[in-house]
Amino acid sequence: MTKILLVEDNELNRDMLSRRLERRGFKIVLACNGRDGILTARSESPDLILMDLSLPEIDGWQATRLLKSAPDTEDIPILVLTAHALISDRERALRAGCDAFVCKPVDFDALLNKINSLVNRKAGVYDDDCQTVNR
Ligand code: MN
Repeated sequence: MTKILLVEDNELNRDMLSRRLERRGFKIVLACNGRDGILTARSESPDLILMDLSLPEIDGWQATRLLKSAPDTEDIPILVLTAHALISDRERALRAGCDAFVCKPVDFDALLNKINSLVNRKAGVYDDDCQTVNR
């Protein structure tokens, strides 16, 4: 069973996404802030991390950077969930080492496709389907 760590501080988003993913057969572990996200990634070794960006304690950019620079977690794909459609925010997430984006509100079928691609290590997962907003 594919194990996904969902790092999301918004309770409604967390409940909705975890229920929908569980219905599709994924095992879900949860964290409500970036610090717990890092600790849970280390203890649970998930197959993939769904990472919100705006998070308390440690934000999603920093959590991504820390996970991708640690030998025990660097190989876990990180799919960033972002309401941040600004180019600069997404570039920051890419520089932090995330593998792909999904924009909020989440298109669930697109999310499933990206999860499956990342878990199966297919090439060309990163695509640019977020609406781009210029400052
Ligand atoms: Mn958030």
